[in-house]
Amino acid sequence: MIIKNTIRDQSYKIYFNVNLKKYLNNLIKRYYKVALITDKNIYKIYKEQISIKGLDILKVNPGEKSKSFTVKNSLDERLLEKKFNRNSLIIGFGGGVVGDLSGYVAATILRGIDLIHIPTSLIAIVDSSIGGKTGINSKNGKNLIGSFYNPKEILINSEFMHTLSSKEIRQGLSEIIKYGVIKNEEIFNILEKSNKVFMENGKSNIDKIIKKCIKIKIDTVEKDFKEKDLRSILNFGHTIGHALEKNYSYKFSHGDCIGTGMAIESLIAHNFYKLSAKDLMRILKLLDKFKLRKVSFEKGDIDNLLDSMELDKKNKNSLITFSLPKKIGLMMKIDNRYKIEIKRNLIKKIMIKYLNEFKNKKI
Ligand code: ADP
Ligand code: ZN
Repeated sequence: MIIKNTIRDQSYKIYFNVNLKKYLNNLIKRYYKVALITDKNIYKIYKEQISIKGLDILKVNPGEKSKSFTVKNSLDERLLEKKFNRNSLIIGFGGGVVGDLSGYVAATILRGIDLIHIPTSLIAIVDSSIGGKTGINSKNGKNLIGSFYNPKEILINSEFMHTLSSKEIRQGLSEIIKYGVIKNEEIFNILEKSNKVFMENGKSNIDKIIKKCIKIKIDTVEKDFKEKDLRSILNFGHTIGHALEKNYSYKFSHGDCIGTGMAIESLIAHNFYKLSAKDLMRILKLLDKFKLRKVSFEKGDIDNLLDSMELDKKNKNSLITFSLPKKIGLMMKIDNRYKIEIKRNLIKKIMIKYLNEFKNKKI
């Protein structure tokens, strides 16, 4: 299956479930040189399928630490030594880390060469491989250095899911629940009904959900590439989620943090706006079903968390910016904008309420 997608003047194709070896062999024929960047975990698992004559495999250590200037620079130098030119291709084969890093290398080397993403983690498939964000971390914060750079193609193979740990699946599920809340109640319903969603209930379910999520991400990003307003709906759960990640020094994973973030932000939407009690409970229940409401914080942490929300590059003054659901499947607009600013002290009240009434409550 091919989905053609146009973001600004760049169009690219997304292929689904094609034979990896054949696909890579074709690319080698099309380009002068091809490099595949991956991490050492993924290399170990998929070595057989990617060891192909003519393909340069560059391995980095797994984990966020590889999104650094040092690793990026070493990849640049290795590619230049191998005489990569503007008719060459970089493939990012891996999770979000590999995608962000290889994307940034492709965006900058020789002022930009062709890039293809082959995401292998669920979160990279439904989220980070689409939208053109590439980059590395700074000691001042995550993802602060980078560029918007779209790939020429994306290959999505759901077979890669089979080797993911349940913790990694959960990270992707968190973003999938987000898509259900912000735009598509059907995704939410499917998740409510199914058990052990993807592993037992079969491939058909996962492929259907993946395609729906990708479509939402593409539609949203295409209409608002630089995040003026609409793209911010994708940030549901992320204002609080990012603060949790940062405050606990990235000890908790992204999906786990935004799970808790979605729970609290839904409570905000219920208290100050129109999200019904019924929808709030459905959201909390679904998050609990997939163990996505576990990141713990104490009352004494709230001020620090609020500080990080204000320092977040998307926020200013003592107002904090959120995107909130009106009901499951639809986001709220106030004064014709999805970005909603709320006073810090009101958020504090809700966070305390969450701790007192919801944190340990079994829904
Ligand atoms: P993200 O969760 O954003 O994709 P990473 O790129 O760090 O973040 O990937 C998370 C972890 O999952 C890494 O340790 C990576 O090696 C591993 N991983 C990614 N894809 C697969 C896969 N298909 N099978 C097994 N492990 C994988
Ligand atoms: Zn996210």
